[in-house]
Amino acid sequence: MRFASLGSGSDGNALLISAGSGKSSTHVMLDCGFVMREVEKRITRFQLNPSELAGIIVTHEHSDHIGGVFKLARRYKLPVWLSHGTLEAARSDSEGVDVRICRDGEALVIGDLEIRPFTVPHDAREPLQYVASDGVRKLGVLTDIGQPTPHVTAALSGCDALLLEFNHDSEMLANSAYPPFLKSRIAGPLGHLSNEHSAQLLAALDRSKLKRLVAAHLSKKNNTPELVRTEIDKVVDQDVEVVIAGQDEGFDWMEC
Ligand SMILES: [Zn+2]
Ligand SMILES: [Zn+2]
Repeated sequence: MRFASLGSGSDGNALLISAGSGKSSTHVMLDCGFVMREVEKRITRFQLNPSELAGIIVTHEHSDHIGGVFKLARRYKLPVWLSHGTLEAARSDSEGVDVRICRDGEALVIGDLEIRPFTVPHDAREPLQYVASDGVRKLGVLTDIGQPTPHVTAALSGCDALLLEFNHDSEMLANSAYPPFLKSRIAGPLGHLSNEHSAQLLAALDRSKLKRLVAAHLSKKNNTPELVRTEIDKVVDQDVEVVIAGQDEGFDWMEC
């Protein structure tokens, strides 16, 4: 199994996950917060065409995750998996798309991939995050979460690779020019994880199999890759490969 990102952050997210090899491989996209032209341009970096996708899986209805989903799905006739709540929030855009409902704890089997949704606290209707497996390795994905829960910790334990939100530095956010309501939303229990909180979550996980870690969904204004790296280094061993996902460049294929 391998994974790559077209871009990560509040201006748009799209993750590719692939399993198998050659003609029989399965490729899915997790979230698509970019307009179609941008997706078509960015996906060529990964030697893929949108028509080769087996479908799109959606975490929640915020535009940086769902903004490009339905247009891409209509254009390339791709099924879309999402929670009932996410569909309700985005129903008006979903006309003509093959939508399939997924829910916490019920694994989806898409070709060579098994994708297991789990519920997270975030200010969306019914947000889900996912653990993907090819039957051998496990990749855990977690962005857009206000605070960790025991359910999240259990879902992400024992993964071989993790993509984890490191959204903001608490001090930079507090001192930023953001209006007070936005600061409280981001730092609140249904907002986003600070570097410190992400590191605490990471520390609480079973990391015995962890080989790769991607820090994702960094705030452009209220974080820096250096601050993220400092927090990560306090927790993970040196043999874990650490990558920081960018808004424009995402990151290149990584083996799970
Ligand atoms: Zn987001
Ligand atoms: Zn969100």
